[in-house]
Amino acid sequence: MKDIVVLPGGEKLSLDWKLSDPERFQRRLKAKHADNGKAGPGEKAHCLCVHQGRYLELQIRELKKSYYFACMPNTGPYHRPTCPFYKPNPEKSGQAAYVEGVVREETEHEVSVKLITSLKRDINKSPVSSSPLPAGPRPGSRTQRRMTTLGLLHLIWERAGLHYWRPQFAGHRTDPKALRRAYATSRNIKVQRGITLDQVLCPVVSGDKGIQYFTERTIKNHSEELRLYVIGRLSSAQVVPYGRGCKIELSGIRDGYRMFMSISQTKWERLEKSYSRELVEFSRNEEGLSVFGLFLVTIDPIKKGKYSNFSTAQIEDAALMTTTEQLIPVESRYEAKIVELLVQKDRTFIKPLRFDAARELVRPDFILTDMGKKEGYPMEVFGLTDEKYLARKAEKERYYARVFGVDGWWSWDASHNAPIPPLPEVSLTQAADPIS
Ligand SMILES: [Zn+2]
Repeated sequence: MKDIVVLPGGEKLSLDWKLSDPERFQRRLKAKHADNGKAGPGEKAHCLCVHQGRYLELQIRELKKSYYFACMPNTGPYHRPTCPFYKPNPEKSGQAAYVEGVVREETEHEVSVKLITSLKRDINKSPVSSSPLPAGPRPGSRTQRRMTTLGLLHLIWERAGLHYWRPQFAGHRTDPKALRRAYATSRNIKVQRGITLDQVLCPVVSGDKGIQYFTERTIKNHSEELRLYVIGRLSSAQVVPYGRGCKIELSGIRDGYRMFMSISQTKWERLEKSYSRELVEFSRNEEGLSVFGLFLVTIDPIKKGKYSNFSTAQIEDAALMTTTEQLIPVESRYEAKIVELLVQKDRTFIKPLRFDAARELVRPDFILTDMGKKEGYPMEVFGLTDEKYLARKAEKERYYARVFGVDGWWSWDASHNAPIPPLPEVSLTQAADPIS
């Protein structure tokens, strides 16, 4: 889908021009900069997102003689999550757990993050720690000082709009399209001084020569100096006997990527511990569920032998994430059931992602966005029965009742085989949203 902005006076401008025809893009913004400042409500530049029956308006800003669009203050969360001006409300996802500065909004839709690990090869010989750095004493508060590989995977997913579902997406959310979105959004994520994520991201998918070209180019240009991130759908994890680690394959990697991925025994054991649920779900091969991974790797060419035009990708760190058929991340089989139901009932919803937050952080499992409610309608699945969990549950119930009102949220107590309660009705004003 093309991202279009309508300028004051009705002229349409494609956001693609920013990269494909930057001169024209700058010329048009410069010409409308003053008009947009003076224009009244309803006459300013806007994208095609509608909130409460009106288009969401945009500012045209100037920085060092270069012009760019920015969303109006506090409107970011109301854009459709696939719009480039969408900014998720960080308080509604695990992003709320990062201390200030870990995720920093830059101009327009750019963001910079502080990663837990350096991407420079060889400089940082110490092993990558996959456990987040502990900080403040209160669970559920802002304690995370760095972004881990899991946090980055969630950021990519969220910024690519893949944590969001509306009925019109049915049949269109394929692996190549999802990974193209992931790659496109990675241009706007700064991961280190002077390095944007697209320079180090290697998506792997079958049947898309374009993506394969991006990945080959990244490896060619940057693998000698930098560690790279490989992203894709896990297709096999084969333990090598006698403690010699594990061979990892991603769906499509045999389709010409000429890369062998492997992980040492120690790191594999650590991965098995951190992602036991995802790996169990993967080995069960349950219908509809898949596991996506982001792998920090060092890539080296194989110099001799019959694989001399191949490379090895040694995994330094990894993050895994279970998703449904629609590529919506889920944290339990109960959640997968809810996604299945919501999709079947043609609902529109967001899955707030955990990032590096502790499980204690109050964060809804899903948010329905088709109820005509500004803040959305949270949904919670309660799955366990131990004492600690029940105390948490009571705390969450109080929180939702306080913030959204007693009737302003939905829950399913899945622990006692209770049937799924009826879903709240779609609001008609929302259903009339003309944009798909
Ligand atoms: Zn928008």
